[in-house]
Amino acid sequence: MMRRTLWLSFLGIATLVVSACQGDFRPYATDATSMNPIAESYVKLVLAVGQHDPDYVDAYYGPPEWKTASERQKISLGDIRSQADSLIAQLRSAVPAAEDDEMVRLRHQYLRRQLEALVSRVRMLSGETLSFDEEAKALYDAVPPSHTEAEFQKVLARLEGELPGSGDLIDRYEAYKEDFVIPSDRLDAVFQAAIDACRERTVEHLTLPAEEKFRVEYVTDKSWSGYNWYQGGFRSVIQINTDLPIYIDRAIDLACHEGYPGHHVYNVLLERELVRDRGWVEASIYALFSPQSLIAEGTANFGIEIAFPGEERVAYEKDALFPLAGLAPDEAERYYRIVRLTEELSYAGNEAARRYLNGQIDRPQAADWLVRYAMMPRPRAEQRVQFIDQYRSYVINYNLGKDMVRDYVTAQGGTKDQLERRWEVFGRLLASPRLPSSLN
Ligand SMILES: [Zn+2]
Repeated sequence: MMRRTLWLSFLGIATLVVSACQGDFRPYATDATSMNPIAESYVKLVLAVGQHDPDYVDAYYGPPEWKTASERQKISLGDIRSQADSLIAQLRSAVPAAEDDEMVRLRHQYLRRQLEALVSRVRMLSGETLSFDEEAKALYDAVPPSHTEAEFQKVLARLEGELPGSGDLIDRYEAYKEDFVIPSDRLDAVFQAAIDACRERTVEHLTLPAEEKFRVEYVTDKSWSGYNWYQGGFRSVIQINTDLPIYIDRAIDLACHEGYPGHHVYNVLLERELVRDRGWVEASIYALFSPQSLIAEGTANFGIEIAFPGEERVAYEKDALFPLAGLAPDEAERYYRIVRLTEELSYAGNEAARRYLNGQIDRPQAADWLVRYAMMPRPRAEQRVQFIDQYRSYVINYNLGKDMVRDYVTAQGGTKDQLERRWEVFGRLLASPRLPSSLN
């Protein structure tokens, strides 16, 4: 073993010398396994940050003794930062060549960018304040666009057309939506049917391991509406928050987003393709405040459109979910026209977060903004401000993530009329360490 390692080091140095002599200095080409020690250190650093930030480690199914060690050692933020900086320097000095395997290049970029984001999170935990845009770029590897009130007003005017009458639009909107709440005694049946429908459409295109499955739990007192807790071994626990009424459109949204082909499938494919097949241990941990989240949320949201392209969704819901929930199917088309209009207001949520986190508006004003421009009923707006308090610029991962993933899949030939290609590109994206800045 020793001899082989020495020989490999010698080859590395030799290549380095040859490159330097040619006057065209390029660090020696690395291969996938040479990154393994850095990957292992990365995992341990993410676990270490988790000791300072309870939301940071979203999933971990690597060696359990690494987690125990992180709890015992509790490395200081300063030490975490200097160790991460040194790993970044190592990665910078060993960049794979352009002709190297794409997965190896993606792995290298992934480790570097995830570590840079980890350093940014450590700086925030140490008391540094970043602006909304700086934070989004540092943590999620993407620059969120800005939108004006006038743009949202245009969408609101169209919504007025769908919901004519007197008084505030938000009141009419809320009153209209009342008829589309899933009764609580039917919630599980509707949700299970939605999961089956999402799964059926996903497994037609993506091969999943036979053991994959998840458990659904209903919870309260959370700032989010649904959450996937990946357990490893191709299993997830999906929690649905029942604090607020759950409308019929949320059944497919949550089933696709949290389950198929969203977070559950994403994690299952990462575990099978990267962790088990390639031995890439960094994929066995998921750092929440990191570029990986834009890919996770973006694919989970775009996954809804992939599973139910075009008019398929309304047709399915009219036929199956509305009757199961005891709702009138005749209204389904209009209901979804309205839902789609409110989706066009999703960037108003980012604007509220930007203004609030930059200190331009306070908490009640942020809630007012969400009611007015994002068409969120008051309790929902208040829940969303709580979410912004907890997760901050993470909000961009849902809508900007979805748009970036859609653009990437489309640019790779996965257009609306090329559904098979769409699934193929999407499936490959789910099973790779590609990051936001590599989507262009
Ligand atoms: Zn999500």
